[in-house]
Amino acid sequence: MTPSSAASGGLTPAGAFAGTGGVLGQQSLVLNKSWAAIATTSVRDALSMIFTGAAKAIQPETYEMHAFDTWSDLSPAPDEPCVRTVSLSIRVPEVIVLTQFNGMPHAHATFSRRNLFRRDHNTCQYCGKRPGTSELTIDHVMPRSRGGGSSWENCVLACVPCNRRKANKTPSEAHMHLLKPAVEPTWTPIMEVPIARVRQSWKHFVSDRYWDVALQP
Ligand SMILES: [Zn+2]
Repeated sequence: MTPSSAASGGLTPAGAFAGTGGVLGQQSLVLNKSWAAIATTSVRDALSMIFTGAAKAIQPETYEMHAFDTWSDLSPAPDEPCVRTVSLSIRVPEVIVLTQFNGMPHAHATFSRRNLFRRDHNTCQYCGKRPGTSELTIDHVMPRSRGGGSSWENCVLACVPCNRRKANKTPSEAHMHLLKPAVEPTWTPIMEVPIARVRQSWKHFVSDRYWDVALQP
């Protein structure tokens, strides 16, 4: 396995990783150079970054950093999931640290139906009722017919009666008030990871991040 053969495949030794099942598609935690959790990525991309030197693997038991050669020298435990190549069994790099990048990317929460329900806590933003998801609609604060776009700043959850009452009016025209301003949530990428998918080895790095996340006012 050489860097040139890896580069030709696009991703690292990916060409050599045939038949490794779902392991490559699982998630690795990405830390910046200061060991702050900034993202998750696929195990495939994590291995690629380790292979090219853009990142190092962190050994969860010791927090030692490994370049690709010393990482691939570590023997996986018999029952441990691993990435198999023709000649190697490589431990899954569950946590990697970037060798250059030391910033904190601004995390944009995806504007999606699911995330809108999450931001508004399944609550009508006009009357405060929680009638259940099937009874909640997405209201455009400035109606679409009057140029209002679909964005974090112009969409809120509204129950069916409130949506009907507001109809094609602005909140002030309808004499209705938002319970809180419609803004983009401040979730970080790590917060997008379902809790069931957070690996045990991430806990040390994710916990501070978790508590630092700003709560909605
Ligand atoms: Zn309502």
